Amino acid sequence: MQTNDKQTLIKTMDIQSNLNEVRTQLPPQVRLVAVSKFHPNEAILAAYEAGQRIFGESKEQELSKKQASLPADIQWHFIGHLQTNKVKYIAPYIAMIHAVDTYKLLAEIDKQAAKCNRVIPCLLEIHIAEEDSKYGFSFQECREMLDTEPWRELTHVAISGVMGMATNTDDQAEITKEFESLHRFFTELKDTYFAHDDRFKEISMGMSHDYLLAVKAGSTMVRVGSKIFGERVY
Ligand SMILES: *Cc1c(COP(=O)(O)O)cnc(C)c1O
Repeated sequence: MQTNDKQTLIKTMDIQSNLNEVRTQLPPQVRLVAVSKFHPNEAILAAYEAGQRIFGESKEQELSKKQASLPADIQWHFIGHLQTNKVKYIAPYIAMIHAVDTYKLLAEIDKQAAKCNRVIPCLLEIHIAEEDSKYGFSFQECREMLDTEPWRELTHVAISGVMGMATNTDDQAEITKEFESLHRFFTELKDTYFAHDDRFKEISMGMSHDYLLAVKAGSTMVRVGSKIFGERVY
């Protein structure tokens, strides 16, 4: 065996054991999005061979390349900030869009999904972190959007829940407080706008360093990258 093959083999085994470790920590109702951004197809295939089917990516070009060359039964989730002019490229195949942070983006997804005869599940990204660098609606902006925009007329998107990122900190109490605030907001939106819509059910929260806290706070979907695939090389 050549050195390169050996390295690939070691990497494959690492990825599969990391994946299994994360899986054993998740209750059955929590789905795992394996965040494969910046990792090559071989890494994704290693996880795929261990049974993983949901993968998360955050760049349209990188995702479209991977989607074209990897198994067709992979469910691709777009987890990053999405520009409206990129929606048309992913609309034919994307399984879920996690970070919808404007009505304009939601309307564009609806328009492109209609062209493909699809209904695309979307999550509303809510800003819960202390840091103000990140995207997302504030609680109030999200209420206002749902109160004033004609989102009920969009028949090719399914607003399926909320997504958020906690502050990047070691302060577990702070992270928990933020995740709990997202869970409460999810419940408020469910009761106020989506009480009769079974599709509104997801709380996407939790990454490599905080997914256990997120699960405790009621996450239904964790997005874990480096804990499975190793550090990203940008
Ligand atoms: C990159 C990314 C993740 C995964 O981050 P890790 O710390 O590697 O687990 C999760 N969610 C979003 C939105 C991301 O951009």
